[in-house]
Amino acid sequence: MLSNSLVELDRRHLIHPVASWRGHEAAGVRVLTSGQGATVRDASGKELIDGFAGLWCVNAGYGQESVVEAAMKQMRELPYATGYFGLGSEPAIRLAARLADHAPGDLNHIYFTLGGSDAVDSTVRFVRYFWHARGLPQKDQFVTLEYGYHGSSTAGAGLTAIPAFHAGFGVPYDWQHKIPSPYPYRNPVGENPADIIAQSKAQLLAKVEELGGPERVAAFYAEPIQGSGGVIVPPKGWMKAMRDLCAELDILFVVDEVITAFGRTGPLFACSEDDIVPDMITTAKGLTSAYVPMGAVFMSEKVYQTIADGAGKAAVGHGYTYSAHPVSAAVGLAVLDLYEGGLLENGRRMGERLQAGLHSLKDHPLVGDVRGRGMLAAIELTTDKAKKTPLPAASVPSTRIFDRAWDAGLVIRAFAWGVIGYAPPLCCTEAEIDAIIERTRNVLDLTLEDPDVR
Ligand code: PMP
Repeated sequence: MLSNSLVELDRRHLIHPVASWRGHEAAGVRVLTSGQGATVRDASGKELIDGFAGLWCVNAGYGQESVVEAAMKQMRELPYATGYFGLGSEPAIRLAARLADHAPGDLNHIYFTLGGSDAVDSTVRFVRYFWHARGLPQKDQFVTLEYGYHGSSTAGAGLTAIPAFHAGFGVPYDWQHKIPSPYPYRNPVGENPADIIAQSKAQLLAKVEELGGPERVAAFYAEPIQGSGGVIVPPKGWMKAMRDLCAELDILFVVDEVITAFGRTGPLFACSEDDIVPDMITTAKGLTSAYVPMGAVFMSEKVYQTIADGAGKAAVGHGYTYSAHPVSAAVGLAVLDLYEGGLLENGRRMGERLQAGLHSLKDHPLVGDVRGRGMLAAIELTTDKAKKTPLPAASVPSTRIFDRAWDAGLVIRAFAWGVIGYAPPLCCTEAEIDAIIERTRNVLDLTLEDPDVR
């Protein structure tokens, strides 16, 4: 059993990310103690299927011994080597080479970070440096999407379009701009892919004009599927259309694959399904399956060579103490072995089952939309399917939905406006996927009886 003192110590000393601090003090912490495969256990001994893989990151699942062994071996041999002063370590070099091999197109150059936020931050710095090197420093305006999430660093939070990340923090900055999300379920032009694509292109063009033309705009950022915004899937062809438009306008196109890479949607990189090669890709999460922290920026030949030539003999002044950390890199290599050794394939099969299972819930009176790709999915609830009325916010039904799922033995992500998100580990079994669907149906039935929802 969880001792009260642990709850009390947490309340007094541990600040939780993206939480109401007062709300958390009142609710207290739920402590997780162990995990195996797709199952986690809490301090009371309760077992739950982790339908969200931690924070869409434990792609390989819990208890992967080969990953643990790789970390221990590297810690014993050499726990740390800096990348500064021309130094390096074998796992970091081998991981970079293997990732470059798998990456789309000519994204051959890898810059390792500690996670997703500093990967995004790094791209902001590289984009700026790139345009300086090209003699166009006035190209300094950045455009992202509403409902987009690009991290919690100072630059990333401003590129992010989630109000709680802005209010009181003094972001976004005046160089950070948004255009509407393609959001098919709630798009004023309807759900027709051609209409959505035409609209997004017109919106980006209009934004570029408003900012003074392409000579002022540095980069456009997009996620292949908008994760933290509610698992919003753009229509097929949308990424390619935006990529082509950016190329036409000479604006760099940065794809944020922090959630979508490493098998989450099927392949190692979601944008390979969109048939595009961006100028840079950001990744983290599944790179190490979250056993240890690590992120990576993938850079095209054009960006790399321009920055390298621009700097000449001067240092490109961007780096972290833990860039290319050898233990993280060793874990990354072990996790890649798992992906290549059948995990991606299992994830693909389980992804089809997950999507089909969630689609079978469409007959439920509360389910307005089912969307996703592979092992990344969401259902959007509504109290009126024709009008697409969101669940009543005042009743905070999302918290109740999370609690109901927890009681049913399932961890999900409950978004505030009645979207339930799924990102289970790729190692799930068929029985576990079926249990996710069955438990979700129970949660929906209980939610339907909630007086605030009816
Ligand atoms: N970009 C995207 C698309 C993300 O989903 C996230 C995290 N959820 C980040 C960036 C930030 O990553 P981190 O939390 O590792 O800093």
